[in-house]
Amino acid sequence: MSGRSYQGYCPNCRGTVADAYTDHKPFDQVHISCLHCGFTAETVSYYLNLAELNERRKEHNELNELIDEEDRLPILNELPKQDEEFGKRNQND
Ligand SMILES: [Zn+2]
Repeated sequence: MSGRSYQGYCPNCRGTVADAYTDHKPFDQVHISCLHCGFTAETVSYYLNLAELNERRKEHNELNELIDEEDRLPILNELPKQDEEFGKRNQND
């Protein structure tokens, strides 16, 4: 097992009272649940649709001031492979 449990911080109770679990496989994720007040936080995974992904790629190029064509992330014409084992695909494309 690659994950580990620990005492997490609950922002509502303002103390380390939450049951927390973190794992780095198959990607970084965390689950926190406070047994006192019920505060819960979980990693959410999903895929962007093509328009959203291209918008993020464009922002990345601009934020990093990537000028050279070989450094820039190109705009995609179709989505890369998106395995639903790791996140839900956005069907609204
Ligand atoms: Zn709490």
